Amino acid sequence: MASNTSICGICSLRQITKVCKYWCPGCEEGICDECKEHHKLLKATRSHEPIPISNYKSLPSFITGIQQSCIYHNEQYQQYCVEHALPICFKCINDHRKCNVTTLEKVTNNFKTSEQFLDLESRLDDLLQNFDRIEQNRNSNMTNIDERKTQLVKEIRQKRAEINKHLDNLERQIIEKLGEKECQSKECIQKVLSILKEKETMVTKCQTNFLYIKQYATDLQTFLGIKDIEKEITTNGQHIKGCCMSEEGLFVHRSFFQKSLIAIASNNKLKHKMQLDPSNGFDITLIDETTVAITDGNLGKVRH
Ligand SMILES: [Zn+2]
Ligand SMILES: [Zn+2]
Ligand SMILES: [Zn+2]
Ligand SMILES: [Zn+2]
Repeated sequence: MASNTSICGICSLRQITKVCKYWCPGCEEGICDECKEHHKLLKATRSHEPIPISNYKSLPSFITGIQQSCIYHNEQYQQYCVEHALPICFKCINDHRKCNVTTLEKVTNNFKTSEQFLDLESRLDDLLQNFDRIEQNRNSNMTNIDERKTQLVKEIRQKRAEINKHLDNLERQIIEKLGEKECQSKECIQKVLSILKEKETMVTKCQTNFLYIKQYATDLQTFLGIKDIEKEITTNGQHIKGCCMSEEGLFVHRSFFQKSLIAIASNNKLKHKMQLDPSNGFDITLIDETTVAITDGNLGKVRH
């Protein structure tokens, strides 16, 4: 077993503590610079080859822990028993008389250039190369996965942008159409309202005149004047489109939504309803009490 690896073994025997700079594998102890000089000259240790202590410390512990002298006889191993695969000292030989024993030097000499040693060295190299290859291969797989993911994410985002753009276009088109319809509808309603307003003003004027006539006119004036008012409020389809009053007081109008011609009595009861097919009709006017003319681009007459 190796002794203290930080102080000089020889000096410590002389009760001197000195840091060792070398390690002698033969003596199995550390030696200082000074002792190394003597060690090199002494006949017993002249053949030893000390190594720098840092080199010794870089050896793995299972190597530095290898016993180099016999644990039973405390003598250097010199022999090797092939049967027991054990190093032995000269004193151990008695226990291995029947074994094939050779010198330790014979089995250890040139071992570092032996086939067994070189084979292990190349197997270690091969293993590391294989690990390296596998590592490179797997790393390249990881990179491929990353690239593929990035590509797919990019494609998904592109698709999404296209869909968004398409939806934006659809939205814009629908809103534009809606705006057009809104304008058209409002314009139509506005026209109807302004016509109604005109008529309302006219009827209000008629009513005022009627009241004055009622209060202040003679019977003859009333009889003749009232005809003027009646003429005034009979539209004859000249202004308001699609409706008129009959002599009997029927309100006749064309219903755009029901696609029909409708006549309503003065008591608000439905008098007549006639489907207008295929045209919705545009304007109507009374020819007489039993005939209504309807325009829709093609002139036609409808009796009721
Ligand atoms: Zn020393
Ligand atoms: Zn030595
Ligand atoms: Zn022994
Ligand atoms: Zn043996």
